[in-house]
Amino acid sequence: MFKKILVANRGEIALRVMQTCRELGISTVAVYSTADAQSMHVKYADEAVCIGPPSSRESYLNISRIIAAAELTNADAIHPGYGFLAENEDFAEVCASLSIKFIGPTARMINQMGDKNTAKATMIAAGVPVVPGSQGLVTDLQEALETAQKTGYPVIIKPTAGGGGKGMRVVHEDSQLDIALKTARNEAEKAFGNSGVYIEKYLENPRHVEIQILSDQHGNTIHLGERDCTVQRRHQKLIEETPSPAVDDTLRKKMGDAAVAAARAINYEGAGTIEFLLDRHKNFYFMEMNTRIQVEHPVTEERYDVDLVKEQILIAAGESIEGRTYTPKGHSIECRINAEDPEHLFRPSPGKLEVFHTPGGHGVRVDSHAYASYVVPPNYDSMIAKLIVTAHSREEAISRMSRALDEFIVAGVKTTIPFHKQVMNSQVFRSGDFDTGFLDSFRFEKK
Ligand code: ADP
Repeated sequence: MFKKILVANRGEIALRVMQTCRELGISTVAVYSTADAQSMHVKYADEAVCIGPPSSRESYLNISRIIAAAELTNADAIHPGYGFLAENEDFAEVCASLSIKFIGPTARMINQMGDKNTAKATMIAAGVPVVPGSQGLVTDLQEALETAQKTGYPVIIKPTAGGGGKGMRVVHEDSQLDIALKTARNEAEKAFGNSGVYIEKYLENPRHVEIQILSDQHGNTIHLGERDCTVQRRHQKLIEETPSPAVDDTLRKKMGDAAVAAARAINYEGAGTIEFLLDRHKNFYFMEMNTRIQVEHPVTEERYDVDLVKEQILIAAGESIEGRTYTPKGHSIECRINAEDPEHLFRPSPGKLEVFHTPGGHGVRVDSHAYASYVVPPNYDSMIAKLIVTAHSREEAISRMSRALDEFIVAGVKTTIPFHKQVMNSQVFRSGDFDTGFLDSFRFEKK
């Protein structure tokens, strides 16, 4: 087993990983930028190394500085969390070359799944259904027109290196395609340093349903059911739950089998998530694979009574998951609490937390690095906490979430708490019958 793990991340996920390390008796190293000197993950770790100024490029994305910190502290493994370098194959490769275990898949696996367009081709070969669309990247208008006409409008242009819902464009007719293609390629170049885009049929009224998988180094893969991430704002997830109100046992088995086949197709290792779109007729289509722990992993942990970070660490240390079974129980929901102003288009609201009082009680979990008097820096992701509740049924879980949101008191910055309260009270959310367009038509009542 590892003796010391460096966590190459910040915020709640850095803390979350360190908590598991502590339970396993593994010592921890935090890395931090000068903007995060007062962050909880720095205080919590056994050792902490400052790796640079606030800019992510000079700190959390800086491979050589992070590696230097690992060497300086003699860490024998690195956990990348999510975001930053979590799906960077160069980083995984450098770690491997220095015999520092990267807790996640190998560079080859990241490469096969990181580029979304290549991932789709791999899935087609593995017999997993994918969203119909272009074969490979699309560079010129003629190709785009042919693909769009073949799949039928509307279509969506997506950056192959994309993430976080950024840079996607929906196109409804031939005449819009030229400009859409050019702007999409431009935006992709700016946001991801890669102008490659591909075209897909734009599914109308789908749900986003993803399957959690675990694969060990010995060829065993299992799945731990689904997470429903249909509640999104501008293609970004805000609320996640398991089980999905749209998935029954038969469909779960089908999607689970497809996800396991997907992971086996690349001899995957570690925790991973296969993302699908699900249409009204219960057809599902592969979208992408995330080769890391995800923000929304706690809902699976609660329903399946498993510590996914612990599984990641044990798998990385070579342990087998053969014969492992999990019995799901109850219903779990997560709300992302962001320092954003829902009254003003969710614009970021960094600053000092004058009050930060978290809810508690039966079935309530809060994953957060924040505390009263902590200053939320403007430089990074605006999420300050994840509120997760678990109960016997979906109905009970919604009541519990409403109660917990009422108890969650934050002052000093604006948050998404009032927004979540209204969603929990809405008939549409309660019915369980909605699609990814739900929040676009949701009216937030300003108080
Ligand atoms: P990212 O990696 O940037 O999050 P995804 O490929 O996971 O991008 O897509 C994010 C969201 O965008 C999906 O959950 C879905 O709501 C929407 N989306 C993506 N592709 C399609 C599609 N072909 N049809 C309809 N909606 C889509």
